[in-house]
Amino acid sequence: LLERKAKQAAKGEIREEYYRFDLYPEYLQLKQQLASIESLGRGNPFFVPQEGINRDTTTIGGRELIDYGTYNYLGMCGDPAVSAAAKRAIERYGTSVSASRLISGEKPLHRELERAIADFVGTEDSIVYVGGHATNVTTIAHLFGQRDLILYDSLSHNSIFQGCLLSGASIVAFPHNDWQALDLILHERRDRYQRVLVAIEGVYSTDGDIPELPAFIEVKQRHKAFLMVDEAHSIGTMGRFGRGIGEHFGVAPGDVDLWMGTLSKSFASCGGYIAGSRALVEYLKYTAPGFVYSVGISPPNAASAIAALERLKAEPERVERLHERARLFSSLACEKGLNTGPSPDSVVIPILVGDSLKSVRLSNALFERGINVPFMIYPSVPQNAARLRFFLTCTHTEAQIRYTVETLGRVVNEVR
Ligand code: PMP
Repeated sequence: LLERKAKQAAKGEIREEYYRFDLYPEYLQLKQQLASIESLGRGNPFFVPQEGINRDTTTIGGRELIDYGTYNYLGMCGDPAVSAAAKRAIERYGTSVSASRLISGEKPLHRELERAIADFVGTEDSIVYVGGHATNVTTIAHLFGQRDLILYDSLSHNSIFQGCLLSGASIVAFPHNDWQALDLILHERRDRYQRVLVAIEGVYSTDGDIPELPAFIEVKQRHKAFLMVDEAHSIGTMGRFGRGIGEHFGVAPGDVDLWMGTLSKSFASCGGYIAGSRALVEYLKYTAPGFVYSVGISPPNAASAIAALERLKAEPERVERLHERARLFSSLACEKGLNTGPSPDSVVIPILVGDSLKSVRLSNALFERGINVPFMIYPSVPQNAARLRFFLTCTHTEAQIRYTVETLGRVVNEVR
């Protein structure tokens, strides 16, 4: 067979796109999409370097702009206490732990962070990984396999989907937030599988909406399934004290099997966690590939997440302020007749535009007027569902929000 293949190659029968990245059809398609975005005037809007700390403002090319592009919901990134904790950790432990924690990379900060997360979420324990995306991929793929079924919300984040694929389990996307459809699928299919995982998110960052968590818990209990909630955008932003979507609905933390979250948003760091039962966490710590075969979270990242958690506990009013700002944004946007999607109370506010190129032009026009807000286009969202996505932070001022919505209301009618 090898000989035949070599002969085919010699005869030129193996097409060049099979062994040259610069001829990958997918790459050529990407280049075309980038060219059409660049032709709209602002050059390439991706990988644009931003100076300083992204809070209510950012600095691009020497210009200060009002910023809605990052997930610094609680203003913890740049908080002096959080930065100081990271600096102290570097002085004490250096910049890396230089090994897997299982073998020789364990530092006191690691357990301190995991205990603090478990305490905050209300679970027996937690495990911290080096990336949020990696947390979902490795945990889901590791806990489930060929005899199992994973049901995930159709708007789930890529990391959930990748974990599902890698697991080798049967996978089914159920219609967004539709626990009744989920219930029906489980009625029909539960008995064909051993373990079943239902994966949802606490806040969906494309639309800013939330799941009806108590209903999902009822369904998972009825069918003896595991429930995983990705709190990337809900930890720190939902519930009176920022303890997440569980606090928002007043559910018992033990009713969810895997509370997943990232450290990169409300907690001003980099990494991800799974909070749950002692057994789950212990099992993952000795066996999850993305934990066992990866370096431990770096000292400054661990320390900044611990410090951000402490600040949040000491100043829960940051959460209330974030929601006040978001409510102001939404109500002004509604007055202007803008389409803010299905969830008016969210801290992630989509402005639905529809056409991809129009959303790029709109983002460019706002940029010229001192507002930085990224667009979201296909394939991140379905065709004709392009949007601008405003991430609010508790550091935005009322004046900034009024100026933004005023400008947006004007420009949206000028841009084609
Ligand atoms: N889950 C969700 C729902 C997310 O939105 C993200 C990132 N935006 C992640 C997981 C991955 O987190 P991280 O960026 O911290 O790797």
